[in-house]
Amino acid sequence: MRWGDSMGLLRVGRVGVAVAAAGAVLVGCMPWQGEEPQDKKDTGVAAAAKASAAAAGQAALLKTRLAAAAKVHANELGQIPVLMYHRVVDKPATQDDRTPQQFRTELERLAREDYVPITAAEYVTGRIDIPAGRHPVVLTFDDSSPSQFDLDGMGAPKPQTAVAILQEVAQRHPGFRPVATFYVTRDMFGKTTPEEQAQMLMWLRDKGFDIGNHTRDHQSLRGKPEKQVSSEVAAGHELITKLLNANPVTLALPYGNQPTKKEWGRKGAAGDVSYDYGGVFLAGYTPAMSPFNKKFDPDGIPRIRSMDKTGDCVKFCSTAWLDWLKANGDERYTSDGDAKTVAFPKFKTPFVVKRYTDRVLAY
Ligand SMILES: [Zn+2]
Repeated sequence: MRWGDSMGLLRVGRVGVAVAAAGAVLVGCMPWQGEEPQDKKDTGVAAAAKASAAAAGQAALLKTRLAAAAKVHANELGQIPVLMYHRVVDKPATQDDRTPQQFRTELERLAREDYVPITAAEYVTGRIDIPAGRHPVVLTFDDSSPSQFDLDGMGAPKPQTAVAILQEVAQRHPGFRPVATFYVTRDMFGKTTPEEQAQMLMWLRDKGFDIGNHTRDHQSLRGKPEKQVSSEVAAGHELITKLLNANPVTLALPYGNQPTKKEWGRKGAAGDVSYDYGGVFLAGYTPAMSPFNKKFDPDGIPRIRSMDKTGDCVKFCSTAWLDWLKANGDERYTSDGDAKTVAFPKFKTPFVVKRYTDRVLAY
């Protein structure tokens, strides 16, 4: 039956076009969602109807997501506090030290004000997976002192160390992730043998903590020739990779001092060690930009020193900045709860980093 055959071909051809067009609409609306596989046994009409229902479903889902993002005032182009800690000791000896009680009080405040810790590696790579309406905070610890982390004979963190306090607070506040980034040097929490040092880093990594490079010898890199900058950074990089068999993702500059060309800290090589970091952190003194915002500069990411509003900390340390972020909620990063999207009020669109434009959810 020639007539019937050609009708059949014609019908298949037209349905094919309809399905392809519906597929294009789906991809256009929701780039992060794969296309549903079509059932080959469907008749053409049923397949077309199914595709158009799916497209309508996707459009409705997009509308729901936009409404949900708007409801929590999602602003994933906003600012993120990266807090900087040094020692956590009973008797502070420098303006960088905090007591266990001060540290605990600050963490309690963060939990109460809907912050959720993420690591520096998660931050710079844009893997910010926290619930809707919450704000990311990055907790960083410099210089790997024993007051930050030590283990008892059974492998539990010793009481009053920063790690133990962070875990305690997280237990009292479900959803407050006990994670942080440790910028280590050769001091390595006071451990001297490679076995003990590896034990410390492995424990941290297994619990979701992040290890960053703070250079091995903690020399200021300001004004140094490129070759020396690379060799200082590479020595710290190698110290970590030898103990942990994993590359650090970020660097914190000793004293926050940038080298002559700021990109020397982020990318370089010395001998057979090369490094290429997702971000380089400073030591002062403002909140940091969302990694999805064009204002984010991976060569120099600001951090905030943990301290009350006294002396030069009246404006530029953690208590003051947390007050400011609370009073200026529209400037702060607020999540829409979906790590795969970058959600924000539509008028901010010109500020999205180009490589994230396919994840945008602008309401
Ligand atoms: Zn340091």
